[in-house]
Amino acid sequence: MPPSPPVSETSASETSTSESSTPETPLPEAGGKPGRRAGFLAGCRPATRRIHAPILDLAASRGHLNPRGLGRARAFSDLGSLGQSSVGFETLADYAAADEAGRAPYGGAEYGIVQSPEADAVGRKFAAMHGGAGAVVCASGLAAIATVLDAFAPKLVLIPDGIYFPAWRYMSETGRAELLTYPAGASGAEVGALIREAGRRAAPADTMLYLEAPGSGTFEIPDIAGIVEAAARAGLRTVMDNTWASHVRFRPLDHGIAIAIQATTKHEGGYGDTPSGIAVARHEPDLARLRRQLRISGHGAVSPQTCTRLFHRVDGTQARLDRHAASAATLMQWFEGQAFATDILSPARPASPWHARFTQYFGAGNGLFTVVFDEALPAERVHAFVDALLLFRVAESWGGHVSLVLPVHPRRDPALLPKGAMFRFHAGLEEADDLVADLAQAARAAF
Ligand SMILES: *Cc1c(COP(=O)(O)O)cnc(C)c1O
Repeated sequence: MPPSPPVSETSASETSTSESSTPETPLPEAGGKPGRRAGFLAGCRPATRRIHAPILDLAASRGHLNPRGLGRARAFSDLGSLGQSSVGFETLADYAAADEAGRAPYGGAEYGIVQSPEADAVGRKFAAMHGGAGAVVCASGLAAIATVLDAFAPKLVLIPDGIYFPAWRYMSETGRAELLTYPAGASGAEVGALIREAGRRAAPADTMLYLEAPGSGTFEIPDIAGIVEAAARAGLRTVMDNTWASHVRFRPLDHGIAIAIQATTKHEGGYGDTPSGIAVARHEPDLARLRRQLRISGHGAVSPQTCTRLFHRVDGTQARLDRHAASAATLMQWFEGQAFATDILSPARPASPWHARFTQYFGAGNGLFTVVFDEALPAERVHAFVDALLLFRVAESWGGHVSLVLPVHPRRDPALLPKGAMFRFHAGLEEADDLVADLAQAARAAF
């Protein structure tokens, strides 16, 4: 059997199927980074070794952080459909009825490209977890965002300046909606003023109020209740990217938000191998529009294996999030004692200006935080520190079992941002003391 992830997954079917062995990893050269990583792992605890030992050399794994088999992918590929495009009907009348409804009697849509029965099952599960009328599943978190924007085709969208950058890029490069920006940590009054400004430019039915909390990379938290109240008074549709919190920490629909979006690529899949996104609608008519949009765009063609994996993994989200958050707290404490770190951005820290709202809305955090490095340090020293890390892999995305690090470049007025280089860390599911030891060895090497 391949090594199992340190936080158990809940599906019996996942563990009962035999799997092929993990691929052979060529023995790394002693002098290079893979060799140093192998040596470092020899002193780490089993949970950390299980996560990293199969992937010592990123070139050999072609950059993948999951060996084949970890995450139990194989168990499904032999059992589930590989994704059927055609859905068959015995009579023309049956087909006509399904085509009209956009639903097949077997589950899923009348055409497999629109939504599979597996995606349907995931959608039902997420809708139940969020208290929504239903949900659609898309091939990525960004595709879910695009689906929501395209489905409602607003002429004007109010967005936070800390919005997930690719979402902003989608909105601005498609150019279909005018964008009005509010501060990521805005009060209800500030957004209320912007809503009045929006009212002079577009009708309420053509205006969308888009929330994301906390802000990507820098973690500001807006006055969600005040903003939603202002939007409701003006009759605007509200949408929230809830990827950071996941349904475990925050349920947007409970707070009056019409559509919740989650990049299930992140926390809900949990092992970096479920590229997908979900949009949960509070009301039936909105759900119908989202479903219709999948028919129009084809963005609902998600691998059934991904859906099946997600369906089971989501049950372990809370346990994993709690562990990510606890490890992040340990790592932040270590950074607090380092002269090279001038600030640590995380609303989970009592010192954060966003901590009161964090407590009000989320109660607990996740594995993410951003370290601000002393602006007096030359960039090469900071880069040397990051490059010397052996367990923290330089990679996009987050929310998985592997700890990650990535530079943060907020596209905002630099005057409003901390001075000094910023790097976002994600605490994975390794043992926290191994991660601290990794940080310490990198600091010794670089500073
Ligand atoms: C990652 C992310 C997304 C997009 O998810 P993908 O599956 O990577 O497309 C959207 N919003 C937030 C806040 C994210 O962090």
